[in-house]
Amino acid sequence: MMEKKGIRDPRVLAAARLVDRRRFMPAGSEHLAGRDRAVAIAQGQLTTQPWRAARMLEGLELVGTEKVLEIGTGHGYSTALCAHLARRVVSVERIAELVEACGRNLAGFDNIRLVLGDGSLGFPEEAPYDAIVCFAAARDVPRCLVDQLATGGRMVLPLAVKGRGEIVLFRKTATALERVEVLIAARFVPLVGEHGAVDEASWNEEQ
Ligand code: SAH
Repeated sequence: MMEKKGIRDPRVLAAARLVDRRRFMPAGSEHLAGRDRAVAIAQGQLTTQPWRAARMLEGLELVGTEKVLEIGTGHGYSTALCAHLARRVVSVERIAELVEACGRNLAGFDNIRLVLGDGSLGFPEEAPYDAIVCFAAARDVPRCLVDQLATGGRMVLPLAVKGRGEIVLFRKTATALERVEVLIAARFVPLVGEHGAVDEASWNEEQ
């Protein structure tokens, strides 16, 4: 399925084969695990389609030595993929119920740190990160995420543009954050938080 959707990086393809998506399904939706579609989870959130999560991680070009900051753990499917691709993953989720579910879903991994908090602020305690991936859409690039990214590091961030959205790959040079390319045109749930897009109510009205 991943190959058909254009995923090429052999490490990403191997990780996708290793991670059993059934483990990450909310109760009652297990039958949807084999389908490449988003699934509803707690509090109106949606998981990312598996191939999109894979494409976003592919954009980070991980080789296995990196410390990665993930924002928007959800049910942890992308976190598990990332844990196979990088040395360490710090994953921030703002909904306690989801962090709890992930604690169960991700049992057995020893290179993941789950954090309950506002990921729009990043997680300065463990910065700098070699790569940052965010699974919720912001209006602009949160400044603190740029500050927490190592020079040379890559960041994948969905940006909201009225009525549509795009997932953008950035790279941090010694002097600036360069916009490399749009990986996918897609809309995401909003990055809610201090440096996020907006509050959820006005987001839903606008979209
Ligand atoms: N990575 C998951 C995607 C989950 S959906 C997957 O691959 O399926 C996006 C998640 O981002 C939601 O769980 C939502 O609660 C979370 N989110 C939104 N704003 C956030 C913020 N400011 N900090 C942390 N998590 C946030």
